[in-house]
Order: sequence, then structure tokens, then C-alpha cells
Amino acid sequence: MRILLCKRRLSPKYLSMARDEFLVFGSPLIEEPEIAEVVECLRSGWIGTGPRVARFEERFREYKGAEHAVALNSCTAALHLSLAALGVGPGSEVIVPTMTFVATSNAVVHSGAVPVLVDCERDSQNIDPDLIEAAITPRTRAIVVVHFAGRPCAMDRISAIAQRHGLALIEDCAHAIETEFQGRKAGTMGDVGCFSFYVTKNIVTGEGGMAIARRREVADRMRTLALHGMTKDAWRRFSDKGYVHYDVVDAGFKYNMMDLQAALGIHQLARIERYWKRRSEIWNAYCEALRELPVFLPNAPASGTRHAYHLFTLLLDLDHVTLTRDELLERMTSQKIGVGVHYRAVHLHPFYQERYGYRAGQFPAAEWISDRTLSLPLSPKLKDEDVADVVGAVERALGV
Ligand SMILES: *Cc1c(COP(=O)(O)O)cnc(C)c1O
Repeated sequence: MRILLCKRRLSPKYLSMARDEFLVFGSPLIEEPEIAEVVECLRSGWIGTGPRVARFEERFREYKGAEHAVALNSCTAALHLSLAALGVGPGSEVIVPTMTFVATSNAVVHSGAVPVLVDCERDSQNIDPDLIEAAITPRTRAIVVVHFAGRPCAMDRISAIAQRHGLALIEDCAHAIETEFQGRKAGTMGDVGCFSFYVTKNIVTGEGGMAIARRREVADRMRTLALHGMTKDAWRRFSDKGYVHYDVVDAGFKYNMMDLQAALGIHQLARIERYWKRRSEIWNAYCEALRELPVFLPNAPASGTRHAYHLFTLLLDLDHVTLTRDELLERMTSQKIGVGVHYRAVHLHPFYQERYGYRAGQFPAAEWISDRTLSLPLSPKLKDEDVADVVGAVERALGV
């Protein structure tokens, strides 16, 4: 009813101001070198897991200064395998922020462990380190942190907690390829770092992910589990060296990356700094242009850190406006600006309430954000005119 009313009141004015083409949220920038590489890959006939995946793993490992890298078909797979490889399963509990994409907590569910959700800080939107220890029980085996929007978690404090309690530490770096904390790169501060190359992420392979690990045995186990539990390098069994038998040592999964995907990733990774720089410009332009509006803007990156600028999330100041976040979403869409919501907290979703008894009211900071948050487009593909269109659309939507 409210939305209908709002539409009738607003649409004509907005439509006359709107751009011609819909600005797709999180649209990736795909350039000629990766297009050529994909074509070459197709012509080579080796489109499955092969030499391009090995090259992409090596480049990514070097970029992160990591010990081991395993390319996978998603970050969700990386999260699931990291838990499995670290021996987290039924009977265990894993600490997860409630302010995250559900893939983080779903991976814990799939491992057989129970996800124990923890609230976030309002400012950073990252897991609140002050609340972690109260959530630890004798069954806790691991902590999964998420560097939200690309802003690093308080890894000094969280690492100390993990160490003190003998817990594994997994970093969900889906937003955080370029993130650093006190000179250390995201994904190298815990046991395993999990990355996403999904279409909206900082670099893309369509679907795709990567796990980096500190210990060889963890990386080896992830590699085995990623391909049916077959012994290492089973993908080489059809090479010109002749057929080799494999042994199945575990009931593994089918999580391997394809060369077709790595063909994109190799060239995207080479451009990571250029894309980062462009997103940082857009991020700063939004901060500057929106600062007088009834919204809370992201804080500047903390000193001694590097922000990956994956998401630009503004928080609607509900005490000073008459519209809801969902109405703001609608007003943006009607002006042909694609927007996102990152996120409605995990504990607010029916599955988590029904299976684990979570309920609204438990995590006030995450709920405060869930009701107010809206993400603006932040792709390196955006032109200055697009950025101006987004700013104009927010201003009009808020009645400025
Ligand atoms: C996107 C995302 C994932 C999942 O990544 P996929 O590669 O799509 O599986 C996990 N965690 C967070 C925080 C994400 O944003």
C-alpha cells in the first residue's frame, strides 16, 4: 500500500530525469585480453582444469604472498572445503558474523557444524571482537571472519582470541582481495583465506573462487576434496604421459575451477590495481557528494589498513527521513540505477530461525544496519557520468 502510494507520487517526475539505460549493479569490466584468452582456451580443447588454472593459482599465490593456493569454482566452495580440511564437522561450533552473505554461514551448515552467530560493530560492519569470546563454548572449533565491504576486521585481536582458545581462523575475503591490515594481506592472517571471483566481485571469472592456505597439508586436503577425493593431480590422468590410475581417499566434492574461468582470471588479476584505483575514486566521489544528505556514509579506512573498496554502502538515517530503505531502493530502481542490499543479517532469515532458533532482537547492530543499508554501484566500468547519475538519483530520491 505504502509502496504503491509512493510509486504514484514519484514515478512521473523521476522517469523524466532518469537515464536511458538501466545501470546494472556490479556489472563487471571484461576487456579484450581475457576475451582472446577464452577463445584461445576454447581452441586448445582443454577447457576443464588444466594449465591455465595452474597459472592463475601461481599468479594469485604470488600476488598474496601466500604459501599455497587452490583454485575452486566459488568462494562458497572454498569456505566449505577449508572447514572440512581443518577437521571441522558434526559436533563442532563455528563462530560467524551475522552481518554477512549467507554463503559464509551456509558453508558452516554444510560442514555439519553449528553456526554460532555474532553481532557486528555499527561503524565497521565487521564482527565485533568484544563479543567473540562470550560465544565460545567447549565445542567451538573455528572462527570465520568477513572483511566487510573490503574493510579489514580487527585481526590482531581476533588472531589473539583464536590462539588463546586453540581455534582455527578462516578469513572470508569475498570482498577483500586487495585488503591489508597492518601490512599483512587479507587471507594470510588465518589458516585459510577464501576469495570470490563471482561476477560482482573485484575481479571476476564468472563463477570462481580461490583458497590460500598457510599449511601444505591443509591445501593438499582441499585440493583432494575439491575433485571427488581423488589423489592429487588426478586431472592429469588423460595427458600425453599416458593414463594413470587414481585412488579415492575421501568422499570429495566437485569444486574445481575450469581453464575457461582461469583464462578470465589471469588477465583480471593483472589489472587489479587499476580497478582498485578507479573504485577508490568513485568511493571518494560518493563520500564527497553525499555528505550533506540524511545518510550515514562509510568511515574513512582506518590507519594502517588498506580498504578493498568492494561495496559502497550508505545507511539511511531513518530518524531524519520519512521513507524506508525499501522505498529508497524502489526510487533508485525507478530512476534506472541498480542498487543492492548488503545485507539483511543471517539470523533474520527463516532457515536460521527455524533450524537454530535465532530471532529478531538478538543482534541490535546488525539489525540496525539491515534496516538501513543500501549499496550504490561501484564497478570500475562506471564512467564519471554514471557516477553523477547515481548521485543525482540519490538526491532526488531523498527529496533534495
Ligand atoms: C559473494 C560472497 C560469498 C560467496 O562467493 P561465491 O564465489 O559466489 O561463492 C561469500 N561470502 C561473502 C561475504 C560474499 O560476499
